[in-house]
Amino acid sequence: MKAAVFHEVGKPVSVEDVAVRAPEEGEVRVAIRAAGLCHSDVSAINGTYPTPRPTVMGHEGAGIVEAVGPGVRTLREGDPVVLSTLAHCGQCPACDVGHPTVCHHPPRPSTPFTTAGGKPAYNFANASTFAELTVVRASSAIPVPRGIPMPQAALIGCGIITGVGAVLNRARVEAGSTMAVFGTGGIGLNVIQGGVLAGAGRIFAVDLVPAKLELARGFGATDLVDGREGDPVQQVKDATGGRGVDYAFEAVGHLKAIEQAFASLAPGGTLVVVGVPKLDARADFLVNSLRLDRGILGCRYGTARPQHDFPMLADLYLRGRLKIDELITRHYRIDDVNHAIEDLERGELARGVFDMTA
Ligand SMILES: [Zn+2]
Ligand SMILES: [Zn+2]
Repeated sequence: MKAAVFHEVGKPVSVEDVAVRAPEEGEVRVAIRAAGLCHSDVSAINGTYPTPRPTVMGHEGAGIVEAVGPGVRTLREGDPVVLSTLAHCGQCPACDVGHPTVCHHPPRPSTPFTTAGGKPAYNFANASTFAELTVVRASSAIPVPRGIPMPQAALIGCGIITGVGAVLNRARVEAGSTMAVFGTGGIGLNVIQGGVLAGAGRIFAVDLVPAKLELARGFGATDLVDGREGDPVQQVKDATGGRGVDYAFEAVGHLKAIEQAFASLAPGGTLVVVGVPKLDARADFLVNSLRLDRGILGCRYGTARPQHDFPMLADLYLRGRLKIDELITRHYRIDDVNHAIEDLERGELARGVFDMTA
């Protein structure tokens, strides 16, 4: 079967004929129908985050359960599923209290694939969605309603849960509160629509690209802040009577934006860092500014509880309360994966989606 394999940093991804083994105890094999391209894929490929190689890339995807391994009782052949990158154990103290993003027993990378050259290939982020078939733990394959189209379902598994989850699960934004979103790419747009779902009173969208700000308005931003027209912190403060916002989200992973987001907080406000800067990055902030009950939160994968959140998000989409169609900038065949990566790096994509059946 066809899959996109990452062999060497700095080299194009290779679309090649890859073998995949049968599902073992507690696993399922999924026929991927659609997969989204995410910045984290590119960060692995360009060496920003070291990852074992060769690896079958992709971590955002949806498909149909094609084979079920021994001991799996929650899934059947033919079930539509969205893949989760967690593969949490479901039994440790963190999983038990509904916090699987900090599971005590995260799975070690496995090698369910064999490349065209006969090498064992790793799965990426417990998913490997840039493949016609993948093998994952059953806890990573989350059933969703049959009515949802596969490209839209795919995006729930990373872009949507990361953004919406940061608002609903991590920050727990209250109705009527104010928030600012620094960076309105694919993740930032989902933070904005998380704010809409939470009933935020004002949602500031901060970016440097006018076209992105207009898109942000369509996702529910109430105030647009163009960073090229002066200090965005000052613009947010001016618009809030000098006070600042109750919640600020940084959705790019730029140190300057993280610092600006923190500086835009009102007393009692909370910064949520959603973007992922380089592994050794350090930010600078005035410790004394925490004194008025300000806080800084990290957020992994939207602090997701996939079994609860994914079907809920699919249902919100089907009821017209969550925008996904508008996030999909372009469709590709997997053979064009390197072309799609170039488009993403040029900032042209909110989301590019691979049709794995094309
Ligand atoms: Zn991702
Ligand atoms: Zn666990």
